[in-house]
Amino acid sequence: MKRSEIEIEEQTAADREAQARVGHVCPVLSRKHIQRGLQSGRYAITRLGLERRCTRCGEYWPADTEFFYFQPSASGGLNCYCHDCYRSVTGRQPGQRVITRQKEMT
Ligand SMILES: [Zn+2]
Repeated sequence: MKRSEIEIEEQTAADREAQARVGHVCPVLSRKHIQRGLQSGRYAITRLGLERRCTRCGEYWPADTEFFYFQPSASGGLNCYCHDCYRSVTGRQPGQRVITRQKEMT
């Protein structure tokens, strides 16, 4: 238990360092993924480029890590909630990442 906690902390520190070095990133998405997202309303193309809809507030925000948290396991590599919604739901700040398992859809 102790060991895994240390590993999580190390990973978070490395993530933060990487983020500081590269700035905000937009995950590379396949054409198919974007096309499907546009059809379902998950994505929109605006004058700002590709935007992603937050599933909580319903607003479109640029599909990058400035507005959504990076989440490799998620569809499109970004969390489905925008930063504000994520914080209001979890009460956590960026960098205070805790490894969680996705709840089963019921
Ligand atoms: Zn939101």
